[in-house]
Amino acid sequence: MENSCLFCRIVAGEIPATIVHRTESTVAFRDIDPKAPTHVLVIPVTHHANVTELAADPAAAADVLAAAAKVAELEGLDEGFRVIFNTGAHGGQEVFHVHAHVVGGAPLGPMLSRQ
Ligand code: AMP
Ligand code: ZN
Repeated sequence: MENSCLFCRIVAGEIPATIVHRTESTVAFRDIDPKAPTHVLVIPVTHHANVTELAADPAAAADVLAAAAKVAELEGLDEGFRVIFNTGAHGGQEVFHVHAHVVGGAPLGPMLSRQ
């Protein structure tokens, strides 16, 4: 755990979150500022800064994806959803503990706004 990391502190229970699913290796909780009717963040309990670091730990990466799929099922996102990993400055990443955004519950519109 990294004391300065917001999401490590959520894993440790030091900061409250609305947890919707938990496994030995992952925690899923509602985004504090939801951008869709369902907006859940899925994180590994171990600290990896971003998806590039997560990819170097294939077991953790697989667990995060499996948890994202489970959250979509639990949230009833039968009509579809998106899984997003914002990465680095151009990706708009703000929290440097890797997290999969699972968003859905309504049509999400174009994947990206045009430049
Ligand atoms: P990103 O820009 O991909 O790093 O996304 C960070 C996300 O974390 C944003 O969608 C925030 O709304 C969300 N967030 C920040 N602080 C919290 C918190 N304490 N609990 C839940 N979600 C949070
Ligand atoms: Zn962390």
